[in-house]
Amino acid sequence: MDLSLPRGMRDLEPDEYEALERVRSSFIEVAGLFGFRLMEPSPIEMLQTLEAKSGVGVREEVYHFKDKGGREVGLRFDLTVGLTRYVASNRGLPLPVKLGVFSDMWRYDEPQYGRYRWFYQWDVEIFGAKSADADAEVVEFSSTLFSKLGLKEVSIEIGDRRVVEEFIRSRLGVQSDEKILTLLRAVDKLGKKTVDEIMEEYGGKGVDRETLSRLTEFGSIKGEPTQVLDSLADEGLKQTDDLTRLVDALKARRVPNVTLSMGIVRGLDYYTGVVFEVFEKEKPGLGALAGGGRYDVLPEIFGRSDIGATGVAGGVERALLALSKVKAVAAEARMVFVGYVGDKMVAAATELASNLRRSGIPTDLEVSGRSLRKQLEYASKSASLFVIVGPREYSEGMVTLRDMRSGAESKIPLKDLEARIKSSL
Ligand code: AMP
Repeated sequence: MDLSLPRGMRDLEPDEYEALERVRSSFIEVAGLFGFRLMEPSPIEMLQTLEAKSGVGVREEVYHFKDKGGREVGLRFDLTVGLTRYVASNRGLPLPVKLGVFSDMWRYDEPQYGRYRWFYQWDVEIFGAKSADADAEVVEFSSTLFSKLGLKEVSIEIGDRRVVEEFIRSRLGVQSDEKILTLLRAVDKLGKKTVDEIMEEYGGKGVDRETLSRLTEFGSIKGEPTQVLDSLADEGLKQTDDLTRLVDALKARRVPNVTLSMGIVRGLDYYTGVVFEVFEKEKPGLGALAGGGRYDVLPEIFGRSDIGATGVAGGVERALLALSKVKAVAAEARMVFVGYVGDKMVAAATELASNLRRSGIPTDLEVSGRSLRKQLEYASKSASLFVIVGPREYSEGMVTLRDMRSGAESKIPLKDLEARIKSSL
């Protein structure tokens, strides 16, 4: 039988899964610190909901199918659309609404390093506050989470689609909305592709080389926020108020490693204002660790032009790749293994293991009746302490406790075992 998985799918094996759970618990902790309440939107949406804003083109990028009732449905490709639908259709929610999700999604992306068809994101969103302070809140959240995860060398790059759009209109003389959208998509490719590759992709869509190279030059403006704002002012660009407000708000919050970059416009069509991406300085090839921004137009499409929205989502697997910690996490296992010598000791070992578990000590137990040597070999991969239940010692009310890290063994009275384990785990 062929046991292969569909292309782009994989199993999350225990080491990776445990590391993912650690990211989840850091996320839950930081979400609590910032007052985001956690929930999970439906994993399956009506296809038309997923198509809001991006149109039917999104069908190429999502998993969609007819359910048994003949409805056109699709798997969520992010958490933003579902959260926005939820908030837009629950008018009674007191504003602003601050929500967070840690869950998985599916995209028909081309699988490659750090890019999967099934992956996890952490996500926080604020609805009902059209202010730079709300934008600053999600940027500060991202910065705090990465620092909590141990990723201190991240850079937060902020841009604003309206500034780039103003440049396209006033300097490049392009006025058609459709062509502007095409050019914004081309800018989004700047860090990832060469100008020639972008020309090849967009040349047929009415983009000429001169326009693209002037846009590329503009997109490469990047640096310390005040300097970038000054050079935008020198260019005569006026749509910079929100960027200025956000930069001031982030300074007040003392968020480190912030730069402004005109090359950041984000690929998704629903962003309307300030946008940002977070990168690991040491691993630029990994792509963005997180991305976000203001997307007031999506609640508007769902019938709520009054609320506005801003948020950020980060790739969990990418954070793990940046940390390269998956193996290290597994090595920290805190587990006791209860083994025994001879079949007659099975009942005593089992009772002891159950008692340890009842006391809240993570405990594994020999269930295959193997020799002590085999038991020790097996436990060396997962346990830090090993309890040997042997007939003579046990009849004297004692067991041997072996520290699997140092190899040191000592005889312990049964009544002291639990306390000894708790102090040395
Ligand atoms: P997006 O929802 O496209 O704004 O993506 C937000 C973050 O999710 C990105 O910055 C990545 O860290 C992560 N991400 C996006 N697409 C994928 C993918 N196909 N596989 C793994 N992570 C992804």
